[in-house]
Amino acid sequence: MAFGTDRQMFDVDLSCAKCGAHISQLPFQPSGDRPVYCSDCNRAFRDSNRDSRGGGFSRSTGPRQMYSVNLTCATCGQAITQLPFQPTGDKPVYCRDCMQAKRG
Ligand SMILES: [Zn+2]
Ligand SMILES: [Zn+2]
Repeated sequence: MAFGTDRQMFDVDLSCAKCGAHISQLPFQPSGDRPVYCSDCNRAFRDSNRDSRGGGFSRSTGPRQMYSVNLTCATCGQAITQLPFQPTGDKPVYCRDCMQAKRG
């Protein structure tokens, strides 16, 4: 068998653990204690892994982590129960309204 490829293939007689497709060749020697997958399923796995690593999604749209606090706004005195950051205690905190007003 000359495919013009430099990758060694092992002749096997297995079926894909996911879709059941027959596998006659693998690029590695199957150990027997791990499921093997056809090339289609392998590619699907690789694609989904790449997605879950967060390559394409933008951070700004997700819900932000909020910290529960028991503080009052340094400007207007309004009670603040949640902050998008962990308050350090040595800086004044402001409610959302005052934060926005400060930003302009
Ligand atoms: Zn498969
Ligand atoms: Zn305020």
